[in-house]
Amino acid sequence: MDVQFGKIRFICGESGGKYPFNHSVYLEGGDCRVVIDPSCGLQKMTDLKQKEGVDQVWLSHWHEDHMAFFFLFENSTLRISERDFPPLTDIEIFLDWYGITGEPLRAIWKDIMLNNFNYRPQTEATFFKDKETVELGSLKAQIIATPGHTPGHLSFYFPEEEVLFLGDYDLTTFGPWYGDVYSSIEDTTQSIRLLKSLPARRWIAAHNTGLFDQNPGPLWDHYENVIYQREEKILAFLKEPKSIEEILSAWLIYGKPREPKEFFEFSERALAGKHLDYLQRQGRIVLHEGKYVKT
Ligand SMILES: [Zn+2]
Repeated sequence: MDVQFGKIRFICGESGGKYPFNHSVYLEGGDCRVVIDPSCGLQKMTDLKQKEGVDQVWLSHWHEDHMAFFFLFENSTLRISERDFPPLTDIEIFLDWYGITGEPLRAIWKDIMLNNFNYRPQTEATFFKDKETVELGSLKAQIIATPGHTPGHLSFYFPEEEVLFLGDYDLTTFGPWYGDVYSSIEDTTQSIRLLKSLPARRWIAAHNTGLFDQNPGPLWDHYENVIYQREEKILAFLKEPKSIEEILSAWLIYGKPREPKEFFEFSERALAGKHLDYLQRQGRIVLHEGKYVKT
């Protein structure tokens, strides 16, 4: 259900905001009307455009499930962090940033991005500055850099309404995503702690539950703890030296094989790979003769 808080509207996404959809936000800012992450559904976004109008589109980050219906607003100004803009300029960069290698796989993903997510290369955007306050008439938005999920991920705080838009720090039980080439486990942890520390009265996450009327409190700790639980599972599995293929076939992140296979095999590899890199950098494991070994 959509909910209005003063000049801010929570627009509930299709499928409860589960991927490939998200929850969007509409800002009625005086002479500037904004939609944040226009991926909640084609019908709602078409209606919004026709009945109320959109002057700017803000993206919390570069992922496809946040900009699927951006094509409806091609005459609007796109605003995003400069750090997250490169993948929006070229589908090849987009695939590179996901770490998708090999032509057959790249062709599959390219097709999905172009046809399911309406990917169109962008040439222009107006960049947010970290910690900037944007004034839309009497509506104020504070730009909060929350890197980790992506390098330029932004959250938005609306001080008058005390609403905090969390973007993809979505407090799901699955836990955070940091599986892209430029994602970072350390930055994700810092961003979760920053968002948890901000005072607000309402919280909006881009997926699933979406709207929190009460402080998510313990959900923050649970969400952060998922990171440590993934790490512990990997370390426990490395009681004996294991190859990457052995690690992946144990499905330590997702728990079991899931469908569609290509999607989840990729995701398991991306997240587990990130942990293995991190553990190696910390000197807690080494790669010896093709197997990961605890030090
Ligand atoms: Zn994302």
